[in-house]
Amino acid sequence: MQVRITVSFPYEAPVSQSLFDRASVVTPGGVNSPVRAFRAVGGTPRFMVSGTGPYLTDADGREYVDLVCSWGPMILGHSHPEVIAAVQEAVARGTSFGTPGAGEVELAEEIVARIAPVEQVRLVSSGTEATMSAIRLARGFTGRAKVVKFAGCYHGHVDALLAAAGSGVATFGLPDTPGVTGAQAGDTIVLPYNDIEAVRAAFAAHPGEIACVITEASPGNMGVVPPLPGFNQGLADLCSENGALYISDEVMTGFRVSKAGWYGIDGVRPDLMTFGKVMGGGFPAAAFGGRADVMAHLAPAGPVYQAGTLSGNPVATAAGVAQLRLLDDAAYEKVDAVSAEVRGLVTAALAKEGVAHRLQVAGNMFSVFFADAEVTDYDAAKAQESFRFTAFFHAMLAQGVYLPPSAFESWFVSTAHDAAAVERIAAALPAAARAAAEATA
Ligand code: PLP
Repeated sequence: MQVRITVSFPYEAPVSQSLFDRASVVTPGGVNSPVRAFRAVGGTPRFMVSGTGPYLTDADGREYVDLVCSWGPMILGHSHPEVIAAVQEAVARGTSFGTPGAGEVELAEEIVARIAPVEQVRLVSSGTEATMSAIRLARGFTGRAKVVKFAGCYHGHVDALLAAAGSGVATFGLPDTPGVTGAQAGDTIVLPYNDIEAVRAAFAAHPGEIACVITEASPGNMGVVPPLPGFNQGLADLCSENGALYISDEVMTGFRVSKAGWYGIDGVRPDLMTFGKVMGGGFPAAAFGGRADVMAHLAPAGPVYQAGTLSGNPVATAAGVAQLRLLDDAAYEKVDAVSAEVRGLVTAALAKEGVAHRLQVAGNMFSVFFADAEVTDYDAAKAQESFRFTAFFHAMLAQGVYLPPSAFESWFVSTAHDAAAVERIAAALPAAARAAAEATA
């Protein structure tokens, strides 16, 4: 059932609506990933047919400035000519061989060259697979069962990590999900984010039992909630003192917030790291990697099994290599500058309308909390006035700006967001800020 809401900018999307109606017959909820269904904000999900630079075009022929960028991957904008050319060249040679190939060596070398703690890397097809495999490897390496994660951190839909997760789970307010058994989640210890004393207490309560601590390097799945100064270093130290592995999940931040991801910003050295999104150039490619002595436990070098029919797929690796090679210092400077510009515009518009908000930033990722104090954990994130986001979102959408359809997600920009795209965002903001100000729960 679709939620219909009244917005101050009436608009229709008949072709998207008819596609959504068809999709809902053959696909649960009409989508292949829950947050796409617009349930948190209501209305008709837009079915996109093409993307060029900073713009997406929907099935009704309407163009939007895209501030989602496929949830992070499209850091060079849509249909970047050099990425498309690399993909076309790879496709022409065949789409999957089920053998080793040069492209996967090149992609692994790009990753290892950029991120010092990654001595070896294994390619997989999704961020979920990366975190699932990293957890298995940490358990296999340490011979321990327990995993510490933080409330509001999302690491994909791995059974053991779907306890108090962010992202779609935050959007729907599910405390947990049916289908995950007590046994699967029973070794997961969920702690409040940014609370280093809670981590210390967990190690004291479970001596010799904790295999690893997994955290988003800088969380973007409960909205953007960066680690407090010293938090990540504290995690690394506590893990090393207690014989556990520190896993930094950089699926979202990796290759996005700097050449070396969040590691390039805070310099805290993890034992294992996970990647996805940007490194696939818009294709399903992800990875986990880290200390060579730990990675040596992975099959076929070691006993911890992990595999994938399409891992290191030649088209996906060609896209990833092309995208990473284009991401030089100048590219990150550009993304950072656009991000700062858009943030400034959003804050100014909301302040002008007297809307209480916190715009939180991690590198070039950012999100708006409709709250009047800094948000440092999941409880605070959930306490925001998300009904204001709903009004804001629809006002922006109606004026041709596509935001993440949830108050609990990061916004993303790209090198392709030029002055014209920023101008469109600027033009849409005053009315959206007014809609947020006038919204009622
Ligand atoms: N880890 C983090 C930090 C993520 O943001 C995500 C996805 O948003 C994942 C893991 C899961 O990645 P995927 O959706 O590719 O399975």
